[in-house]
Amino acid sequence: MDLAQLIEAGRAPAAEFIARSHRMLIDGLWVEAASGETIEVRDPATGEIIAHVPAGGEADIDRAVAAARRAFEEGPWPALKGPERAKLIWKLADLIEREANALSVIETTDMGVTFRAARLGAIGTSPDVARYLSGWAGRLYGDTIPATAGEWHVYTLREPCGVVGQIIPWNVPFGMAVQKVCAALAAGCTVVMKPAEQTPLSTLRLGELIEEAGFPKGVVNIVTGYGKAAGAALAAHPDVDKVTFTGSTATGKSILAASVGSLKRVTLELGGKSPVIILDDADLDAAIPGAAMSVFSNSGQVCVAGSRLFVHPKVLDKVVAGIADVAAKLKLGSGLDPANDLGPVVSDVQLNRVLGYIEAGRRDGAEVVQGGGRIGSQGYFVAPTLFVNTDREMSIAREEIFGPVISVLPMGDDSLENLARQANDTEYGLAATIWTRDVKVAHKLAGKIKAGSIRINSGGNVDPAVPFGGYKQSGIGRERGKEGVEIYTELKTVVVQL
Ligand code: ADP
Repeated sequence: MDLAQLIEAGRAPAAEFIARSHRMLIDGLWVEAASGETIEVRDPATGEIIAHVPAGGEADIDRAVAAARRAFEEGPWPALKGPERAKLIWKLADLIEREANALSVIETTDMGVTFRAARLGAIGTSPDVARYLSGWAGRLYGDTIPATAGEWHVYTLREPCGVVGQIIPWNVPFGMAVQKVCAALAAGCTVVMKPAEQTPLSTLRLGELIEEAGFPKGVVNIVTGYGKAAGAALAAHPDVDKVTFTGSTATGKSILAASVGSLKRVTLELGGKSPVIILDDADLDAAIPGAAMSVFSNSGQVCVAGSRLFVHPKVLDKVVAGIADVAAKLKLGSGLDPANDLGPVVSDVQLNRVLGYIEAGRRDGAEVVQGGGRIGSQGYFVAPTLFVNTDREMSIAREEIFGPVISVLPMGDDSLENLARQANDTEYGLAATIWTRDVKVAHKLAGKIKAGSIRINSGGNVDPAVPFGGYKQSGIGRERGKEGVEIYTELKTVVVQL
């Protein structure tokens, strides 16, 4: 089937779902917020209200945490054998696969991402993310430690850490929800999940699929609500053992502060201002579209966006012209039209945030080579934008914009020390990309850059087995891979005197 047929296949079930009266999932029941209040959900391609979801608050979080606690302490979930937990996660993966077209239409309508990007990217790959994570169920174990051999028998155990709060961002809602919930479930934890207020719909549909798969009640609870109400209540709740969060660095700091009361475990995947370095021997046919789309895809709402671009002077003109050309040719519009390459940004708040940065860049004296403003007056569309003549002090060069904006920064000389210094001249450390044919330079530079993911001659990685997370203010801990499941465990040491 081509893309248009997949969209058609998803349209009717997605429309039926979106039009429903939405509730949240607590202890196996679909309920309204205790306050009875709701949140408006908008289609960012039109700005129109498409649904209402419950505005959950502290009382709803209390109920959901109590249900997750019961499911953890009294229910079968943490005690189930690994293969039994894996079987349910695998079943969920099959259901997601069955529903991939409708889920992708829901995501496009709620968040703005193109159907193509959702269906071939985060949603299309999420069944395999779930299957990969299911494989860890029953395979998390400790060591025997021979240090005191003869006198003591010492071993460690990996136990599920308990009730987990998961706070989901709006840029990749469904993909993040699946990755987080399946890792926690594989480890044997129970979950209270809060999707972003801008993009709750695909997570609510995930809740229905979790129910259909047959997970015991209370194992996964989903509370919709605002960050400052439901999110903050979850982050501060004394009976939540662990919080995992993906989102902005500012919100990550408030979640970390809220965790202090009960010293809960926290994993944070936060913002970035990732450097991309293109050297003069790079394969420019790959580097130019790679550098462009590392920022422009998902309309720049990508935590690993390579928004600080350093280009060797010998190839600078060619790269700038090439990226400007890519940007000029990208077609913006509704993500449900397969002819469009990019959709809108998620909300009017985000639109104004991105436009504010573009204005600041101009005011600071940077030059717009391509784009530089809003497109149309309906929906929240921003033209892919390329700045040159920037310097390191400008806000467009320092702060995370989370929009389709690339700043070309002066590179200076191409010594490894200088390149590493430039790359590391940021409070963030999420990712970095190096484009060169010189393997020595690539690996030496990879060793010097302070970032959680280094990409060499490639736009990114998509394999769930690869750990992901940030240095510095880009986060704490790692998700994906073995490390991403171990974050949901506590390590226990048992010592036996012989
Ligand atoms: P943005 O600033 O663009 O809304 P955030 O990083 O704040 O992005 O949002 C990511 C997620 O964090 C959303 O689910 C949001 O509701 C939640 N959130 C926002 N503020 C808080 C907070 N103070 N405590 C807990 N969660 C929050």
